Amino acid sequence: MPDRYAVIGNPVSHSKSPVIHAAFARATEQDLAYQAILAPLGRFGATVEAFRVAGGKGANVTLPFKLEAFDLATETTERARAAHAVNTLSFEAGAVRGENTDGVGLMRDIETNLGVEIAGKRVLVMGAGGAARGVLGPLLERRPAALTLANRTPDKAIELARCFSRHGPVVGGGYEALGPHRFDIVVNATAASLAGDLPPLPTSLFGAGALAYDMMYGSGPTLFLQWAREQGVTRLADGLGMLVEQAAESFFLWRAVRPETAPVIAMLRAG
Ligand code: NDP
Repeated sequence: MPDRYAVIGNPVSHSKSPVIHAAFARATEQDLAYQAILAPLGRFGATVEAFRVAGGKGANVTLPFKLEAFDLATETTERARAAHAVNTLSFEAGAVRGENTDGVGLMRDIETNLGVEIAGKRVLVMGAGGAARGVLGPLLERRPAALTLANRTPDKAIELARCFSRHGPVVGGGYEALGPHRFDIVVNATAASLAGDLPPLPTSLFGAGALAYDMMYGSGPTLFLQWAREQGVTRLADGLGMLVEQAAESFFLWRAVRPETAPVIAMLRAG
């Protein structure tokens, strides 16, 4: 019997995680099965428990359950505690371990896959939801010159910046405060692209040679990446690399084997 893993979310049928983990398992010759499980809203805990009792060894957690997963875990890592969100659960004798691999995923995509150094850079993160929470700690660990957090609801960005201020220089606010500032790395961690929307950004946002990164991914460039290109930005990336890298980190946690990510990113790009 293969070891069983799953991604649990709502909705979840669009998730690429089963394809990614199946590719990792083939490449590393791990005997495992990975499925997508739809958890009804309000039934996340019961869904996790049913999977665990049925022999599940671990699960990825996606929208909208990352905060519930944090509360459900009986043990959490420092990264998960800093993010206050969990995207990877491991079931071990009587314990449910919670980890957050989103930050590692973004760091590997920016630094290793895209070859962009974060240290000393002026970084802007747009959004103050679960995705932003997961990446602020790892970004600050790289010692950027400054980290700015902008959000549609400014108070959330201000509060989040306050929570992370002991990790490094971070300020939060609304989009109107971006005014004259220029950035070397701009990460869109909002759900705006999902709604075909764009945060209200000044056209002077990007410094020379800037990277525009949208955590969202799809069949074509997101609205944010299209807009960045119109502003003259040539380094553009969507969140597919981050998705595969965070999955690889989960796989490593569960199996103690690190899969190669480049072939899987290429496979997904090829459709
Ligand atoms: P949340 O729902 O937790 O947060 C959404 C954020 O987007 C909030 O800050 C919200 O602002 C902002 N927002 C929503 N709509 C708009 C809009 N029209 N204009 C401006 N801001 C808006 O979502 P997550 O943080 O979990 O996810 C954010 C994005 O990141 C999603 O697109 C998701 O798919 C992607 N993601 C990608 C991953 C990857 O591996 N590539 C991993 C995790 C997430 P407000 O606070 O004002 O409501």
